[in-house]
Amino acid sequence: MRIVLLGAPGAGKGTYARLLSEKYKIPHISTGDLLRQAIKEHTALGAKSKPFMDQGRLVPDEVVLRPLKKRLGEPDARNGFLLDGYPRNIHQADTLAALEKIDKVISFEVSLPVIMERIGGRRTCEKCASIFHVKNMPVKVEGVCDKCGGRVYQRKDETPLALEIRLETYKKETSPLVEYYAQKGMLMRVNADYPIEKVNLIIDPIISELNKIR
Ligand code: AMP
Repeated sequence: MRIVLLGAPGAGKGTYARLLSEKYKIPHISTGDLLRQAIKEHTALGAKSKPFMDQGRLVPDEVVLRPLKKRLGEPDARNGFLLDGYPRNIHQADTLAALEKIDKVISFEVSLPVIMERIGGRRTCEKCASIFHVKNMPVKVEGVCDKCGGRVYQRKDETPLALEIRLETYKKETSPLVEYYAQKGMLMRVNADYPIEKVNLIIDPIISELNKIR
C-alpha cells in the first residue's frame, strides 16, 4: 500500500497521515520531517536545507532525494508507506515513479481562508514537536507546551511572508501534479475544508480497500 498525499500547506496531510499510519500500521514518511530532523541534528543536509525551508522555498531536488531514498529503503517501508510532502514538482514525481510503484494519490483540496486560519494560528513545541493552535487548541500557559513544558513558538515557515511564498510555490510547482496523477488514473480528490472526522470518513474506506488487496 504505497500512497502519496498531496495538498497545499494547511490541507492536513500530516494529520491524516498520522491517523492512517497508526490504523494500518504503515509508516508515515514526511520529507519535511526528515529535513527538520536533519536541521535539529546539525547535519550537512540540515545546513543545506534550512535557508530554503525558512523562506518557504523548495529544497533542491537532489538534496531532498537522498534522505528520502534512505528512508524508503528501511525495512518498515517495504510493505508500504504514506508519503507526505513528496513529490512537490513534476521532476520529483518522475523520480518517484522510477523508485516505487505508487498505488494511489490523494489530493487534499483546501481553500485559501482555511489555509490562512490553520497555518497562521499554528504553534509548535520546540522540544517535542507537539502542535497547538492559538484559537482551536491553545496552550494552557502562554508560550509553554502542555505536554513537555518546552517552548512553544511559530515556525519560521509559518509566518505570513513565508506562508505566502509557500503557497505561491505550491501553486506553481506542486499543483500541476494533480493533473499529472489524474491522467495516470491514480488520483482521488478530497475536500479538505471539512473537519477531520468528515474527511476521515471519506478516505478511510479507500485505504481499507487498498489494504485488503495488498
Ligand atoms: P512540509 O513539512 O512538508 O510543509 O515541508 C516543509 C519544508 O520542507 C518545505 O516548505 C520545503 O522547504 C521543504 N521540503 C519538504 N519536502 C520537500 C520536497 N519534496 N522538495 C523540496 N522541498 C521540500
